[in-house]
Amino acid sequence: MRIMLIADEPTGVLWEHLDKSILEGLDLIISCGDLPPKYLDFIVTFAPCPLFYVHGNHDDSYEYTPPTGCDCIEDKVVVYKGIRFLGIGGSQRYKDGKNQYTEKEMKAKISQINKSIKYRKGIDILVTHAPAKGLGDSEDLPHRGFECVRQLVDKHKPKYMFHGHVHMNYGPKVPRIINYNETTIVNGYRYYILDIDSSQFNYNGCIWDRIKVWFDRIITLNGYFI
Ligand SMILES: [Zn+2]
Repeated sequence: MRIMLIADEPTGVLWEHLDKSILEGLDLIISCGDLPPKYLDFIVTFAPCPLFYVHGNHDDSYEYTPPTGCDCIEDKVVVYKGIRFLGIGGSQRYKDGKNQYTEKEMKAKISQINKSIKYRKGIDILVTHAPAKGLGDSEDLPHRGFECVRQLVDKHKPKYMFHGHVHMNYGPKVPRIINYNETTIVNGYRYYILDIDSSQFNYNGCIWDRIKVWFDRIITLNGYFI
């Protein structure tokens, strides 16, 4: 499965100077946040696949003008082509904003999401805006990762974690990829395409999920359920 990550800053080859060849063969696009809704609208119009997103700390405008034709996967486990995706948006709270959380607030948010994880019997790919504590974050409060998100990774051991928020041009030490235990962590800054071996994922869901997929395939040809 070919996935394109986008995050933090629009890039000309996906907008003003669109190079459609970049979108060819993609199975899924994931926005890890901090991107204008119009940019997501534009990309999904030309893409051959769905676009999932979480909110970045600069995405408060989505409340009034959400990206159209895209799916928000925040606070729930979404299954697409047998892969369980969990989305968690936002960053550490450093000023007012709808998509900023204290460690305590994020912990409470995750405890609500746990029901969804339990129902799907785990997660395969975690999509966040901010990185987990100590895994691609920085020391300053705005770019500090959440400890509770790291605990989530430790507990559920997703195969992949995709995030944004820490721009790779902040310094030479910001890595694109970190291998942490069984999890490959990828910073989606600007855009990054990766191929994953989808044969390792085969979540079929419960009978109601399968019925939903069946209807969804007929109606949208997408084949994913939320
Ligand atoms: Zn951010």
